[in-house]
Amino acid sequence: MISVAINGYGTIGKRVADAVAAQDDMKVVGVSKTKPDFEARVAVEKGYDLYISIPEREKLFDEAGIPVSGTVEDMLEEADIVVDATPEGIGAKNLEMYRKKGIKAIFQGGEKHDAIGLSFNSFANYEDSLGAEYTRVVSCNTTGLCRTLKPIDDLCGIKKVRAVMVRRGADPVQVGKGPINAIVPNPPTVPSHHGPDLKTVMKGVNIHTVALLVPTTLMHQHNIMVELEDPVDADEIKARLDETTRVMLVRTSEGLASTAEIMEYAKELGRSRNDLFEIPVWEESINVVDGELFYMQAVHQESDAVPESVDAIRALLEVEDDNMKSIRKTNRAMGIL
Ligand code: NAD
Repeated sequence: MISVAINGYGTIGKRVADAVAAQDDMKVVGVSKTKPDFEARVAVEKGYDLYISIPEREKLFDEAGIPVSGTVEDMLEEADIVVDATPEGIGAKNLEMYRKKGIKAIFQGGEKHDAIGLSFNSFANYEDSLGAEYTRVVSCNTTGLCRTLKPIDDLCGIKKVRAVMVRRGADPVQVGKGPINAIVPNPPTVPSHHGPDLKTVMKGVNIHTVALLVPTTLMHQHNIMVELEDPVDADEIKARLDETTRVMLVRTSEGLASTAEIMEYAKELGRSRNDLFEIPVWEESINVVDGELFYMQAVHQESDAVPESVDAIRALLEVEDDNMKSIRKTNRAMGIL
């Protein structure tokens, strides 16, 4: 049984904790919080041991009546591996602590590839992380690109990708973030960082991306154009994406015409927190014109990369050398379609 610590129990950390707890070869030895807020209280109610990242704040947890099992350093003593889900930039600072403790660590997409030295996607480069000390699960957007571009590359080769990434302005809980009434080129420089990020896991792919923020919290949406090496028709692409795990074809004709309706579908599936780990691709959007493939997809930013964090644990600890075996195990435990 692999003992996993989750450092940073926020949007990503709480989902990774539940995904780890659902596996039969892993257990959560603790989660960490900086503040005695509702998430800290719920973590304890769910049965997770709670550790604090700022020891001077122990009194605040005492006053709030939230029991604490120790500090993050104490939590690391209990664990074989740590999943760091702290806010962007803090993970890289924590690396020194993990190195001193001699513990393997998995970081999230907010960290820079260069700060960690290795990036991870279950389909594109699982084997690169086998036995490594540290790896970084690429961001929600990059995971979304990888999930569909990798099977397309395997099917017919990719000459060139261009993608327009329509990004949610904030996560649902981020009440202070926007925009609330604007479309913002973000980053304003072209191409955006998403293409280079994909190359950290799909090496050699020729991709350029542009991105903008819009006033929505539900999902990201991607518009993807791919020049193909070998001629294939739209039906072959549909068939390949349909059989690819962690990808799902959705149909406007069935009422799944928007990110709002797709999130409603996730609720209908009875998923915890309405999560959609799979990448939905609009079937009607898939078309090949003059050897160029067009398609549109969405990304549930809060959850799509969570199964990848679980697979990364097996890769770093070398308990499973075959990526598809880990993917199937993770999927079964998380109810992924
Ligand atoms: P979040 O703010 O929701 O959660 C971060 C948690 O870490 C909070 O509970 C916070 O209290 C805690 N924390 C803060 N400082 C800490 C410290 N020094 N030590 C321990 N814990 C600390 O952030 P998030 O959205 O879950 O993002 C976490 C990482 O995942 C980032 O790298 C982010 O870029 C990446 N990511 C986020 C999303 C998303 O859409 N939210 C998607 C994919 C990847």
